[in-house]
Amino acid sequence: MPSAADRREMILAAMAAAAKIAGRDPAGVQLIAVSKGRSAEEIEPLIAAGQRDFGESRVQEALDKWPPLVARHPDIRLHGIGRLQTNKAEDAVRLFSVIHAVDRTGLVDALVKAADKAGRTPAVYVQVNIGEEEQKGGCAIADAGDLLAKVRASPLPLAGLMAIPPAGVEPGPYFALLAKIARRHDVAGLSMGMSGDFRAAIMLGATAVRIGTALFE
Ligand SMILES: *Cc1c(COP(=O)(O)O)cnc(C)c1O
Repeated sequence: MPSAADRREMILAAMAAAAKIAGRDPAGVQLIAVSKGRSAEEIEPLIAAGQRDFGESRVQEALDKWPPLVARHPDIRLHGIGRLQTNKAEDAVRLFSVIHAVDRTGLVDALVKAADKAGRTPAVYVQVNIGEEEQKGGCAIADAGDLLAKVRASPLPLAGLMAIPPAGVEPGPYFALLAKIARRHDVAGLSMGMSGDFRAAIMLGATAVRIGTALFE
């Protein structure tokens, strides 16, 4: 059975191979280990293997799990990748170095206020509801420009655009669409691609992939 560290090596190699096929520098793609639902015992071997970027979906779970790990490894960067309620903005700003699910102007306001209070300015990705799905997080494609302008006018550094394509369909066209929206608005970062589709995402321009299952199972 491959260890978590072995799986990480295999994923990094597959990421580099996809980047090379696309004529991209593999160093331009970041691996975010999605550790939601995983225990500290499962996470520690990845930290020991050198992994420093971790993604969590829920603020409360991250608060319960990460402070002791971060105290031992202060160079860890936590990424908030789940839908964020405005009333969790203060906790999110204290915990996360990067927030991937900023999808409405009211949330930007809450994060700016929380950042001011905490003296910390996490970078943010604007999440786009790329498949225009009812239930999904993310702003409408037509609203991405306004939301990007709002972030750019704020003290929060803009990390880029983030999206989760609809389940059960070929994700490539959605990745390509997100990349096109990014070009249109002169945005450099693209958080897209998960365990099942990170190669395609990298070939279409992902600069950060969020991988859970393939790392931990
Ligand atoms: C859970 C999750 C992931 C990781 O998905 P896997 O298929 O387990 O790699 C990536 N992004 C978001 C937003 C998630 O919630």
